[in-house]
Amino acid sequence: MLTKEKAIENLDEIIKKVEFVRLQVSQHKIVQIVGVSKYNTSDDVTSIYKAGQRAFGENKVQDLKQKQEKLQEYPISWHFIGTLQKNKINNLIDLNPVLMHSLDSLDLAEELDKKLKSRSKTMNCLLQINSSYEESKSGVEPKDAVDIYETIQKNYLNIILKGVMSIGANSEKKEDIIKSFTLTKEIFDKCDGAEICSMGMSGDFELAILNGSNMIRVGSSLFKS
Ligand SMILES: *Cc1c(COP(=O)(O)O)cnc(C)c1O
Repeated sequence: MLTKEKAIENLDEIIKKVEFVRLQVSQHKIVQIVGVSKYNTSDDVTSIYKAGQRAFGENKVQDLKQKQEKLQEYPISWHFIGTLQKNKINNLIDLNPVLMHSLDSLDLAEELDKKLKSRSKTMNCLLQINSSYEESKSGVEPKDAVDIYETIQKNYLNIILKGVMSIGANSEKKEDIIKSFTLTKEIFDKCDGAEICSMGMSGDFELAILNGSNMIRVGSSLFKS
């Protein structure tokens, strides 16, 4: 269980680190922090919320639903960051996430759009790109990403594309991680109207910001006790 003091200390430490690198990139750039609560209890989320954090993300539809229900008294912005199974699409639509980070194929976009249409709803989404070319990771291939982005924008009108998302390369080598981030940033710059470049987790968010991220997703470093 996260104490009040520890929650404040963790959040402050992350904000300080974000600020330090953010100012090296631009005075005007805003970097949003999404607290990833997937391994934590609602009580822990409450502690971080009370320290000032307002955006949280979950990677399973069922967990998102449970946390939303338990924490409904708080004005939390809920993000969805996990792989979405087609049979869970309707459940996710019901939960109204502010942003869905993990639109990872045209196929999923088609299904999601169809279900959104039939309910007269829209969803803000990011196109997930597998910029590290790792088989274990979801996402579209970098070479197809801009085309897929445009296809979704043109054909799937109930999906509001806001930008792109990537998970940094799982490597000890800094160059590999940087390479995956710069590739995502290059694609982001080519996507018409893209505003959000979601990349960076506990282990690599500083590198991500230095290479173009404006939204980071931090779990373990925020919730460490
Ligand atoms: C778990 C997860 C995170 C947070 O990871 P940490 O290393 O704990 O900060 C970020 N993004 C995605 C997609 C995740 O699944």
